[in-house]
Amino acid sequence: MKTIYDYDIGIIGGGAAGLTVASGAAQLGARALLIEKETVLGGDCLHVGCVPSKTLIRTARACHTMKNAQEFGLPALDLPPVDFAKVRERIRSVIAAIQKHDSEERFCRLGVRVVFGEPAFVDEHSVRLEGGTVSAKNWVVASGSSPQRPPVEGLEKTPCITNREVFSLARLPASMIVLGAGPIAVEMAQAFSRLGTKVSVVQRSGQILSKEDKDMADGIMKVLAAEGVVFHLEASVLGVKDLGQEREVRIRTREGAAMALKAEQILVAMGREPNLKGLNLEGIGVSFDRKGIQTDARMRTSRKHIYAAGDVTGAFQFTHTAGYEGGIIVSNAIVHLPRKADYTFMPWCTYTDPELAGIGMNEKAAGEAGLEYDVFTEVFEDNDRSLAEGEAVGKIKMLLDRHEKPIGVQILGPRAGELLNEWVAVLNGKVKLSTLGSAVHPYPTLGEINKRVAGAYLSPKIFSDKVRKGLKFFFNLKGRACGPGDGA
Ligand SMILES: Cc1cc2nc3c(=O)[nH]c(=O)nc-3n(C[C@H](O)[C@H](O)[C@H](O)COP(=O)(O)OP(=O)(O)OC[C@H]3O[C@@H](n4cnc5c(N)ncnc54)[C@H](O)[C@@H]3O)c2cc1C
Repeated sequence: MKTIYDYDIGIIGGGAAGLTVASGAAQLGARALLIEKETVLGGDCLHVGCVPSKTLIRTARACHTMKNAQEFGLPALDLPPVDFAKVRERIRSVIAAIQKHDSEERFCRLGVRVVFGEPAFVDEHSVRLEGGTVSAKNWVVASGSSPQRPPVEGLEKTPCITNREVFSLARLPASMIVLGAGPIAVEMAQAFSRLGTKVSVVQRSGQILSKEDKDMADGIMKVLAAEGVVFHLEASVLGVKDLGQEREVRIRTREGAAMALKAEQILVAMGREPNLKGLNLEGIGVSFDRKGIQTDARMRTSRKHIYAAGDVTGAFQFTHTAGYEGGIIVSNAIVHLPRKADYTFMPWCTYTDPELAGIGMNEKAAGEAGLEYDVFTEVFEDNDRSLAEGEAVGKIKMLLDRHEKPIGVQILGPRAGELLNEWVAVLNGKVKLSTLGSAVHPYPTLGEINKRVAGAYLSPKIFSDKVRKGLKFFFNLKGRACGPGDGA
C-alpha cells in the first residue's frame, strides 16, 4: 500500500536555502511545508548577516569619504560623533524593505504553508510540531549556522557580542576588540573603525582572511591598518574578563609576551557552527559532525529522502551557495532530474573597501591541489577610472593551468564583487580569453581591468617576434621608427 504523507516536501529553516526550495517546489506543484523557528522568514542573511552588514558598510564608507573630503579637493569637514541609533534605524529600514520579498503572505501566495515553530524528527518522515505530528515524503534541513563560542576562559561570564547583536547596539562603542579575522570580522572591523570606534583585531594565524592568498589579504590589512585598525596576528587568546565598564582580553603575542587589551565591546567572530540542536537527527540516522550535515553531490544526507542545504552543511557558507543548493534539491526531489552540485566556479566576496572577490582557485588552492599554473596580473593604479575615483589600491590575478585554461580569478579592488561577475560569465560560459580580450568595454570603467588581464596573456602571443617577422616578410614593413636613445 502506498504511504500517504501530509506534504510532498517539508523544509526546516526559512533562510536563503529553505526559501529557495519552498518557492521552487510550490511553483512546480508540490505541497510544501516551511517551518521556521523565529517569528519572521529571511534567515541570518536578511536579519543579522549580509543585509545589515552591507548597509552598515555603506554608511561607514560615506562617513569615511566625508572625513577625507580634502582628498577630493573639498574643504575639510569637522564631523560630529556618529549617532548609532540613526545608523541602526537605516539598517532596520533596509531589512524591512527586503523582508516584503520574504514574507509569510508572499510564500502563502506561492502555495507554501508556513508554520513558525521548532520541529523535532520522530521518525524519518515525520516531525513533532506544535503538539502534533506532520509527515512529508521528502525533508530538507536548512537550519543555517550560528556564531561559534570558542572555549576561551571567561568567555561564558563576559558580555560579548556576535553578528546577532552588533547591528542593533544602543550606541557606537568607543572601542572594540574583534576576535577572529575571517570575512565577517574584517568587514565589521573596518566599518566600526570608520564610524569612529577604536578597533583591534586578534587573529591566531599569520594573516587575516586565511583562505585567501597572502598578498591579497595583506593588501586589505594594509588599508585597514592605515585607517587605524590594530592587528595582533599569530596571537592566542588566553582569557576574557568583564571589568564592569570595559572588558579585557588577555593575549599571548607573536613574540610570546602576555598582553591585556581593553575595550567597551568584544565582537566574537571565530567561525560558525551548524544549527542542529533539537532536531533529533541522530535519532533518525542522519549523519553529521561538528562542521555540519554530510551530503552527497545531490544534497542528499545519509537518509536519501532527507536533504540538507546552506550553512548547515558547513561547506561554502554564502547566501548564493545556499540558494544554489536549494535549486539542486528542487531538481532532485521534485522534478526527479538527478543534478549534482558543482562548486568549481563558486564565487565569493569580502566587502571590505577595497573588496576582495574570487572565483575558482587562488594560488593557495592550486598549490594544495598540486597544479602547475601561471599568474597574470594587472593593477588598479593603471586603470584610469580607479585614479579618477581615488580608489587605486589593488590588483587582479588570473590563474591559468598548464593548458592555458583559466582556473581562477581574484580581484582586490574597488567594487571587486561587481567586477567578478564578468568572470562568472566567462568561466561558466567557457568564453575564450581572446573573446574577452577583444570585446569592447566602455571607457573609463573599472571593468576594463578584466579585458586588460586577458590582454596580459594574449599580448605576448600577438606582438611576438614571429608575428613581426612574418608581417615584415609579407608586407614589407619597415620596422621601428624610434628606439632607445632616439627622440626626447
Ligand atoms: C555578518 C554576516 C555577514 C554575511 N555576509 C554575507 C554576504 O555578504 N554574502 C553572502 O553570500 N553571505 C554572507 N553571509 C553568510 C550568509 O548569511 C549565510 O551563508 C546564509 O544566510 C545561509 O543561508 P541558510 O539558509 O543556510 O541559513 P540561514 O539564513 O541562517 O537560515 C536558517 C534558518 O533556519 C532557522 N532555524 C534554525 N534552526 C531551526 C529549527 N530547529 N527549526 C526551524 N527553523 C530553524 C533559522 O532561524 C533561520 O531562519 C554573512 C553572514 C554573516 C553572519
